[in-house]
Formats: sequence, C-alpha cells, structure tokens
Amino acid sequence: MLVRVLGSGAGGGVPQWNCACRICRAVRAGTRAIIPRSQASAAISSDGVSWFLLHASPDVRLQIESFHSLHPRATRDSPIAGILLSNGDLDACLGLLSLRESQPLSVYATSAVTRGFRDGNPLVRTLERFPDQVQWIELGLGAEVTLRGGDGRPTGLDVTAVAVPGKVPLHLVGRQPPSDEDNVALRVRDRASGRVLVWAPSVAGPTPALEAVLREADCVLFDGTFWSSDELAESGAGERRAEEMGHWPLGGAGGSLALLSQLTGTRRVLVHVNNTNPILLEDSPERAAAAACGVEVAHDGLELEP
Ligand SMILES: [Zn+2]
Repeated sequence: MLVRVLGSGAGGGVPQWNCACRICRAVRAGTRAIIPRSQASAAISSDGVSWFLLHASPDVRLQIESFHSLHPRATRDSPIAGILLSNGDLDACLGLLSLRESQPLSVYATSAVTRGFRDGNPLVRTLERFPDQVQWIELGLGAEVTLRGGDGRPTGLDVTAVAVPGKVPLHLVGRQPPSDEDNVALRVRDRASGRVLVWAPSVAGPTPALEAVLREADCVLFDGTFWSSDELAESGAGERRAEEMGHWPLGGAGGSLALLSQLTGTRRVLVHVNNTNPILLEDSPERAAAAACGVEVAHDGLELEP
C-alpha cells in the first residue's frame, strides 16, 4: 500500500489565517524549527494507479497539485477513484465542493455523515449536474467495503469503518441527533499484502474497539490535534477543552501518547495537528516526548509504505 500525507494540520492549518499565537507567529517569521501545514488529508493506493483521498480538505486543490500521482492523465480525467470521509467536519468534507467541474466521484461515508453533508444543503447541487455524478457509498459500522475504481473493478483496497468517540460536526449540533456513525476510524486493508493502515484523525478518547483496531494495524495516522486539554485557553485561542471538541489530548497521564507508546510493532504518525500544539515545534520538549515513545509527527508530503 502506498500512502502520502497531503495535509497534516488540523482545521485552519498552520499557520491559521486569523491566528498570531506563538506557533503561528514562529511559522510566519521562521524563527523556530517549524514548518507550515495544510489541513488533514492523505492519499492511498494499492497499485499506484487508482488513488483514494482520506478526507477532501479545504486545501484539496493545492494538495492534488502537490502530488504528481494525483494529476490528470488526459484533458478531463483524475486518478482519484474515490474519497473516504471519517466524519462530517468541514475540514474533512468542504473540499468535496471544490471537486465539482462535472467529474464523476465516489464518496465513501457512513449514512449519518452523508446525510449531514447532503440534507438541506443546496451547494450539493454542484455535485449533481448529471445523474450519478457522485456515487455515495455507505460505510456500515464494522462492515468491510471494497474500494472500486471508475470501471467498477476492485482496486485492491478494502475499508472498514470502526466507531470511535467523537461528536456531531459543529454546524449540525442541534440539527442532527448524535450517532455512533458521526465519527469513525477507517481501517484500510491491502488485499495483496494484507497490510493494514488506520486513519483516525479525530478520536475523543479510548475504547476497547479502538485499541483493538490500533493493535492490529501496521501503520496508524492518529489524532495529534492537542497536547493538553486546556491548550486553546492557554494560547488565548478559545475557551473549549480538547475533549469538548472531540479530541483526546496527547500529553499527561491519561493522554493518547501513553496508549500509542505501547504499539511498538506499529508505525505511529500524528496528523490533524492543531496550530496551538507545541509538538509542532521541532525543538520542544513535547516533540521530544513523542519521539521517545516512537511516535512521529507527520508533515505534508510524508510518504509511507505500510
Ligand atoms: Zn495559532
């Protein structure tokens, strides 16, 4: 399996347009060891010909241009056979609307995520210019689904949605009741090699099901949003705690780094890293703590071969 991290930042990216926290300032000024990051997404393929996007981020157009394997091979064409959504947050799905231009697409998502994006949203009509412009393929919890190319043939990858703690997207709070389908980890299995990638950029806390799927993975792209629960308040960037926003902080006794440190047979890479997270500073003690656990911080363009 081929994996390319297209974007490693959380919603807003690094730096964020309306933020001058110490980290965003350092990125702009070039005063510390830190690099810019676009919003979380990755491209995966079994054969290097048909590709799938994990999320369609608001940065999708530049992310496609950043990776030659995603470039069209003819006047109207795309090697992107489909897009997989692990939740309905805008940073996961806003880019779908940028993939219009009458290109047939397949979108794989749970029914709750599909409903949240489509129902009552007139912008979706830009993806409905002709019948079946977008095929919405349901990911039922725990059911392995074959990822197919435009010709309908299996591409060599299968995906399973595993419910993980999360939340209804902010724009749907009060409009759609919470469901186990709101937020999932995507377990992607390569048929030929048997290798398994887990994409879990939003995880509000541990469960036995999450731990089981992580333990059998060869590579995990995991939620690196926040280092601490009160990081936004400490940075002056907001009031809400990490857990209220659907993210399990990395640091501290009950942090996710403690679990990730146990998965020694698995390549563990943090994605969806928020611009307030000190782990982004390559010379920070938090980055050193992650490295001591064998946990990497993704950068845009990172290539993995689970
Ligand atoms: Zn910032």
